[in-house]
Amino acid sequence: MFTEDETSNVRCSLRGKFKKDFNLKKDKLYQMDIAVVGDYVDYNLNDDGTGTIYSIEKRNNYISRKAPKVKGSSYRGERLEQILASNIDNFFIITSIFAPVFNNKVVDRFLVIGESAGLNCYIIINKEDLDQENLLSDWENIYTKIGYKVIRTSAKNGIGIKELKDLFNGKKNIFWGQSGVGKSSLLNKIFSELNLKTKLVSTYNDKGTHSTVTSTLFKVGNNTYVIDTPGVREIDPYGIRHEDLGHYFKEFLPFLKNCKFNTCTHNHEPGCAVLEAVENEKIFPERYDSYLRLLETIEQDIHF
Ligand code: GDP
Ligand code: ZN
Repeated sequence: MFTEDETSNVRCSLRGKFKKDFNLKKDKLYQMDIAVVGDYVDYNLNDDGTGTIYSIEKRNNYISRKAPKVKGSSYRGERLEQILASNIDNFFIITSIFAPVFNNKVVDRFLVIGESAGLNCYIIINKEDLDQENLLSDWENIYTKIGYKVIRTSAKNGIGIKELKDLFNGKKNIFWGQSGVGKSSLLNKIFSELNLKTKLVSTYNDKGTHSTVTSTLFKVGNNTYVIDTPGVREIDPYGIRHEDLGHYFKEFLPFLKNCKFNTCTHNHEPGCAVLEAVENEKIFPERYDSYLRLLETIEQDIHF
């Protein structure tokens, strides 16, 4: 954990009571994580210089996904919520146009996660140097029209780096995307331009039997932080009801209130204003297609 004046790092463990409560509640547990990157905590400093966390402040927001299915993680096979980071301002969804090829379905899943957490979402399309035919423009147009800021970058030739740096400033930023898209390359590029030594201020490693995700928080300037989250394969948004999913596709919002049924899932229902908007080309078919796929895969989670 980082100290209040942010000049040093204290290695902390959780007070026994937390762990005990956590284990006791396992049956009814919805979340797997006690403390996550980005949390503000109170701790006692021990004689040996380590700390013991005794309370965690309420989170303003947090980003999570469904934890991978693990045998024994819950007794009815429900999926738990895995929190990756908390108290975030900006969510940067990192993609690449090639290698790996741009996948809008994946982007839309990340967007649902970001929108449902109430974050500022940005889409970075990296490796633009590989985009000989300017395929990037089509995606850029779609997401820009919806109202997202799209930043085209190349960690290789430096495009977009300055813009990213400016967006980072004074904020707590999270970087997330599939592996191989260039997250580390981009961060290295920005840091070296800033000419700052990146300082590890907090790591959290869930060492359970489930797949390991270690997010790392770096301080990169005045009140400026970057949380690097390793690429993940599974990114199912957690805790979203079928009838709420449409709220996290922001271009659907103006139409939702005109659906005949307020529990409309915009799938087959008569009098659905979203379906009508798709037919009238007011909603991109690519996005509607993503919506339908997500609608199929979101499961009713444990506490519904
Ligand atoms: P991460 O898994 O998202 O952290 O991705 P890395 O930063 O490790 O990059 C994965 C691969 O893509 C590496 O071989 C990088 O050299 C390459 N790469 C990253 N950014 C770019 C870019 O802008 N252009 C090109 N051509 N390759 C890149
Ligand atoms: Zn509808």
